[in-house]
Amino acid sequence: MDGADPSIDSFLAEAGNVIGAGHVLTEQSDKDGYLSELRKLFVGDSPAVLRPRSTNEVSAILRLANDSGIAVVPQGGNTGLVGGQIPDMSGRQIVLSLSRLNTIRDIDPIGNTMVVEAGCILETIHQAADEHDRLFPLTLGSMGSCQIGGNLSTNAGGTAVLAYGNTRDLVLGLEVVLADGRIWNGLRRLRKDNTGYDLKHLFIGGEGTLGIITAAVLKLFPKPATRHVAFLGLASPVDAATLFNRAKGAFSNDLTGFEIMRRTTMDIALRHIEGARDPLQSALPWYVLLEISGGRDTGDLQLQIETFLAECFEDGVVADGAIAQSDQQAADFWHLRHGMSDAQRRDGGAISHDVSVPIARLPEFLETGIARIENLVPGCRPNPFGHFGDGNIHFNVSPGYDGDPKAFFDRRAEINDVVHALTIEMGGSFSAEHGIGQLKRDLLAATKDPVELALMRSIKQTLDPNGILNPGKVL
Ligand code: FAD
Repeated sequence: MDGADPSIDSFLAEAGNVIGAGHVLTEQSDKDGYLSELRKLFVGDSPAVLRPRSTNEVSAILRLANDSGIAVVPQGGNTGLVGGQIPDMSGRQIVLSLSRLNTIRDIDPIGNTMVVEAGCILETIHQAADEHDRLFPLTLGSMGSCQIGGNLSTNAGGTAVLAYGNTRDLVLGLEVVLADGRIWNGLRRLRKDNTGYDLKHLFIGGEGTLGIITAAVLKLFPKPATRHVAFLGLASPVDAATLFNRAKGAFSNDLTGFEIMRRTTMDIALRHIEGARDPLQSALPWYVLLEISGGRDTGDLQLQIETFLAECFEDGVVADGAIAQSDQQAADFWHLRHGMSDAQRRDGGAISHDVSVPIARLPEFLETGIARIENLVPGCRPNPFGHFGDGNIHFNVSPGYDGDPKAFFDRRAEINDVVHALTIEMGGSFSAEHGIGQLKRDLLAATKDPVELALMRSIKQTLDPNGILNPGKVL
């Protein structure tokens, strides 16, 4: 053990007795992958990474940590974008990786439920549901590496929220280890249960500050029989709002995807995503990826979509468009959209904002936001994209190709201030789906309703009186 602090050394020795010394990682090269995230925006230090295999092992570790006052930072797939899963630089916070709790405990196709452990990769959950002819709809660009425990703890959103809701809406029950090591078995499969406060909602979106989620009962859905995806070019965000309103009216809950992107965002995707091709002949200022899924394949949905889009084209709401002619083409359209974060990273990075405003105000938000940012930093490239149908935009800003990137990134705080001020001005949220973590903790403290903030602090105090669970995050 390499901790200079004897209390940490003895904690690690006892933890090793519980989980096996081989799962207490103390070598720097073994720890490195857990101590920073993809963009290296958050880098931490830690005496060890612990890799328990079961709920009982997590419980024993927390009991030891609570008794010794040692801070624990839970980590899932390490794809979080606000630094919640990364320890601070003190070298005193232990990382608790949930990756080895990766068993799918049960699938019930009649009750449409699935019991999964926290470390199951989201994509694996999709595959398991698919094998039973069911759908687990939560879909994120990071689904090949993020874990359900992380999704639950951040209340992740993604591209299927429009039809199925956030992660919070996809859960029936939870198993949680509390700060003092007690295990709460709330793995209920009930669709109706009004027996007092619904405690699972404290831990969903709790970012590991209130308890460690070890397992969950997820809701499954019938797989849609048909899926139609169109890639559409538009003149403006106002047209996108009109299109959204019409599509919702025409297809109701069958409208399962409505994603927007600006041309500048598309340019980056086309440049950096391997094999990406522009689905349209002409370049347009804005694009919408529209998905419509049908429960039953009656054969006429395709015709309805074609008629609908032809009308939108005639009215000038849509300027150009392509309907995917095969599953592969539909996947290619989605691949463009899902690859956007990664493409921006490869393009040299961006100052990102995960914001939401009431849907009706999105056009005004996008147009005003772009104008204000271009005015603040002439030559920069605002590259917004995201979940228009949820009112959630990733308002990312990249440096100009000709400018000095360092000078641009040095202005991060100013750019953040402009975007967040506009968001709040429009009655929006400065964290729509990624959470608070370290990144937005001070902003939360500065802007949240004081009564709400006081309630949050008293919940934290009740559930984690010694402050060992992910300190320095959220509050
Ligand atoms: P981590 O990053 O490891 O942890 C996230 C937070 O949860 C931390 O605070 C951590 O302490 C806590 N935590 C993790 N596991 C547990 C547990 N078992 N118990 C208690 N606390 C825990 N997010 C979206 O919402 N929508 C998107 O569309 C989206 N797209 C993305 C695309 C890309 C390319 C990338 C890199 C990220 C994207 N994200 C998106 C962000 C990220 O993938 C999500 O926040 C995801 O839910 C994090 O899961 P994770 O397993 O990686 O968690």
